Amino acid sequence: MLSLSHAVAAAPTHSHGSTAGHQHGLAQMDIALEQKQLTVSVQAPLESLLGFEHAPRNDRERQRADALLKRLRQPEGLFVTDAAANCRLTAAEVQSPTLEKKEKGAQAAVDGHADLEARYTFQCERPAQLRQLQVEWFNAFPQLRRVDAQVVGPLGQHKQVLRGLSRAVKLQR
Ligand SMILES: [Zn+2]
Repeated sequence: MLSLSHAVAAAPTHSHGSTAGHQHGLAQMDIALEQKQLTVSVQAPLESLLGFEHAPRNDRERQRADALLKRLRQPEGLFVTDAAANCRLTAAEVQSPTLEKKEKGAQAAVDGHADLEARYTFQCERPAQLRQLQVEWFNAFPQLRRVDAQVVGPLGQHKQVLRGLSRAVKLQR
């Protein structure tokens, strides 16, 4: 019995807690259009956006981390909506405890991986004119190769994989 419990304890754990679905090069976006409100919730490994996922260790990493947070908090150009829909950004929340070193070690404890979460809210005056949402993240973040989008809106619910030149999320027929 002693050896059995020992074997169990020694077995590698595959529970990754909050990093479930964590895959380098990938980001997940939940996109919802409900009446006039468009929301985009992003979850991405820091590796996908920054190239590393530990708290910054030197000035260069600190600068890159700060630049990333600033870019994501002022997301001009990262999302492009149809002009006729007249959407404006009303909220941008970005959270990355690892980069903001509020919980030093707390998140890094999960086998060295760390995620970034962001949530964007837009208000669209004419949502019926919002045919698609262009996700322009690939040029901004060269490490990002794929976005798995889960979309809820007038078309119902669908999944879309974005990559390279295919980065328009369909919202209307
Ligand atoms: Zn990772």
